[in-house]
Amino acid sequence: MSRTTDFIRLAEHYGAPNYNPLPIVISKAEGVWVEDAEGRRYLDLLSSYSALNQGHRHPKIIQALKDQAERVTLTSRAFHNDRIGPFFELLSRLTGKPMILPMNTGAEAVETAVKAARRWAYERKQVTEPLAEVIVCEGNFHGRTLAVTSFSTTPEYKKGFGPFTPGFTVVPYGDLQALENAITPNTAAFLFEPIQGEAGIILPPEGYLRQAWQLCKERNVLFIADEIQTGFGRTGQRFACDWEQVVPDMYILGKALGGGVLPVSAVAADREVLELFSPGSHGSTFGGNPLACAVAIAAMEVIESEGLAERSRELGEYAIERLRRLRSPLVREVRGRGLFIGIELETAARPYCEKLKERGILCKETHEHTIRLAPPLIIAKEELDMALERLEEVLLPQ
Ligand code: PLP
Repeated sequence: MSRTTDFIRLAEHYGAPNYNPLPIVISKAEGVWVEDAEGRRYLDLLSSYSALNQGHRHPKIIQALKDQAERVTLTSRAFHNDRIGPFFELLSRLTGKPMILPMNTGAEAVETAVKAARRWAYERKQVTEPLAEVIVCEGNFHGRTLAVTSFSTTPEYKKGFGPFTPGFTVVPYGDLQALENAITPNTAAFLFEPIQGEAGIILPPEGYLRQAWQLCKERNVLFIADEIQTGFGRTGQRFACDWEQVVPDMYILGKALGGGVLPVSAVAADREVLELFSPGSHGSTFGGNPLACAVAIAAMEVIESEGLAERSRELGEYAIERLRRLRSPLVREVRGRGLFIGIELETAARPYCEKLKERGILCKETHEHTIRLAPPLIIAKEELDMALERLEEVLLPQ
């Protein structure tokens, strides 16, 4: 019996069945490559949903982890630590936002942003509590906690989990008029993904982000960008909002902020919003811990010093163009920005992900019909070419 089969059996026996992973057991990884329990090598084209923009086990990030592990790992926020200030300072410089609130997972940071927006509405916009509304988009994905699940529009994410948290209004993604119609005097914020990742790499119409930003500004509504998946170079800019030169009132960040090593998330926002949190009003035992902060500093430094956003832009343009030239009857559409690419098929995508796995390429379907490609941004052109060749083999009829 293979080690792979044994490990899968064990995981499936004891683990709750809330995932449907491809049948591969990863036991080692470096850069863009992973190795299974039998030592077979695969090219990772998923990057743990963009949490590995810097690649697996980037040496500078691992060094920061080790160095910090030798000093102090956890203080809680009952005390200060000497890594949190430098972490705030660097994240503030990269986002242009003066205040930071650290958390751990993406969903927690989304919850934090919603809490901040509601408090801002009550204390600065004179909305009567508890009437604050947050506008979200159809097809959104912001995580799995209960409040976040409450405003999902995907039935399978919600089934059996009610009652849900009120206070959310849903509008179609990319529809400016619908957004305008949905704004009321009680609207605290508009929360959106600059490109919808989980929904299948859905880009809004050109100009939408800028116009939505302008509208929110005019109507005194906070403009909150969930850049958990699109941030830190993934789409070919530091942040996907940069494509339309908009700076949101709040950035929600996670995934690659932890360098593929630790869960690190944060909200970066204006002082007028985040200063409304008072001691005791919000927090997290692990949020802002020195180990996470040291890792996040290194993770951000790698993105910047290695020019990973530019790499993503150049390689992404190349890959999208090459995939569009494929002309396979199986492919309905290729879309994306930078190395954040969706290949929508006419048929279920899962069997093609399985075939790609057999050819040493790891990727995952999203929403049934779309293959999501999001390789580590450190990928070499030759490695990308190899992956594209395998994709062509699998997607062209024999
Ligand atoms: N927001 C977006 C845009 C995401 O893509 C994700 C995860 O895929 C999340 C939030 C949730 O992050 P986490 O899984 O770390 O809670």
